[in-house]
Amino acid sequence: MRDYIRKLLFIVPPVSPGNGAISRNLASYNEIPFGVLSLATYINKYCSKTVNINILDFNVSNDLAFVDKIKKTMEQFKPDIVGISGLFNSMFSYVNEFSRYVKEINPSLALVVGGAIATNCYELLFSHNPYIDGACYAEGEIPMRLLVDAENPFSLLEGHPSWITRKKISSGVTPSPTFIQDLDEIPPINYAMVDLEKYDSRCRNNNPIKHEAEDTAVRLPFVTTRGCPFNCIFCAANSLSGRKVRFMSAERVISDIKRAKEQYKMTKLVINDDQVLIDKKRIKKILDEISDFNLIVEFPSGLNVKFIDEDIAVRLKRAGLEVANLAVESGSDHVLKKIIDKPLKTADIKPAVDALRKNGLLIHGFFIFGFPDESEDDRIMTIDLIKEIGFDWSNIYVAAPLMGSRLYQIFLENGYIKDEINFLDANIYQSSLRSSEDIGKYVYRVNLDVNFVNNYRMRVGDDQLAEGYFSNVVNNHPRHAFGHYCLSMVYQRLDHDNYRSGKHMREFHEIVATDDEWADHARYFNLI
Ligand code: SF4
Repeated sequence: MRDYIRKLLFIVPPVSPGNGAISRNLASYNEIPFGVLSLATYINKYCSKTVNINILDFNVSNDLAFVDKIKKTMEQFKPDIVGISGLFNSMFSYVNEFSRYVKEINPSLALVVGGAIATNCYELLFSHNPYIDGACYAEGEIPMRLLVDAENPFSLLEGHPSWITRKKISSGVTPSPTFIQDLDEIPPINYAMVDLEKYDSRCRNNNPIKHEAEDTAVRLPFVTTRGCPFNCIFCAANSLSGRKVRFMSAERVISDIKRAKEQYKMTKLVINDDQVLIDKKRIKKILDEISDFNLIVEFPSGLNVKFIDEDIAVRLKRAGLEVANLAVESGSDHVLKKIIDKPLKTADIKPAVDALRKNGLLIHGFFIFGFPDESEDDRIMTIDLIKEIGFDWSNIYVAAPLMGSRLYQIFLENGYIKDEINFLDANIYQSSLRSSEDIGKYVYRVNLDVNFVNNYRMRVGDDQLAEGYFSNVVNNHPRHAFGHYCLSMVYQRLDHDNYRSGKHMREFHEIVATDDEWADHARYFNLI
């Protein structure tokens, strides 16, 4: 019987893109906080106490200053436990600042932090944050449920192996994760705990296909597997979810998707798994079942190329996928095998792309530049591969040493990270390639080269789709000179009166005349 009420407040700090080299690649972030919703749903189902839960997400809440909003929420809600999400490294300063606000208002409540910050840099966290009582190591559902249920939360923090405390750190205790082995134990997510209308309903990763009622679409995130057996050098996913893949059954996934369609009128299904294709039988069953659901499906984390074949490609398309995001990372076998330990050969890429394209899917790729020991030849191989295979769009990133990844250790040992706090706040680090500023420029030029100057859809004369890509760019970045230039080219071929073409060409010339950086890029590609 539930007879005691606990009040639990979750705070999600803004996901700050920082000001280092990586910042160019991060868009504004207003994604539904799936991790917090999963915790809240799990706690509500399994706690023996009645739990009132409130979620304060600063990525969509900007009506008051941070301190005032936290103060107002705390005074009205009166929580006895506060959990701050530290999902990304870049939230580090906010976690510390918000911790202070919380404890200044109520010093006696239990204040805990979760996510990558709590898991991968807890020593740094405790040394810079005198306010927190505990940090959750890796997955949070079970540790949080136990904390909320505990008569004395502070004793629970000291006694449970997944909770890190100041005392445990000083006695050298190493934390261990508590994973949910059977993901079917997680109840269907209660998305109504957040105001869904505040979150972005547009497709991610520059999908050029125009959808009706894009702004009113209901786009909901799902996670159907956790864990990844691979160990890519730049990735920190294993530190949070482990290397053993755990599954939600196909039946449960299908039933949850059906329920989300009925209950929330979901029209866009976003599956955020790291290895969604790893169990082919399971994923085929899910894709087959949902193919009648009339959904737009997204896998924004990227699909593993080695699991894609004709059979999967057909089903992905039928299920509602429009854009296949492929996690390729490099066009050099040396980089893939010897430097980043990625389970992929470049020879596997074209057959996968051919199977997907044959079934009408657009092909987007994720690529990373700037790994230690990567050569200019390796980088050129990647650029050539993007052009030769004809990726419709490429997301080009700078190698970022995420805390918890092996790359972070390498960067630290080589002295590329001078100041860990500065690094956490702003992703400031010196790349092995050149200075962070130089690699930022290099990578941006690659983006301009493969996505604009040598855009695949323009090269094959598919101007309708090319128009979709460049319209997205100028809608999101109205001063994107190359977006205007390419739109002008596309409209020249599509229109007869050249009105739109002229308008965008004038925009292009106005931008390069007033912005030195754009002028520099335009000269580099002989556009002026
Ligand atoms: S990058 Fe992908 S394949 Fe590699 S370890 Fe991370 S999740 Fe696994």
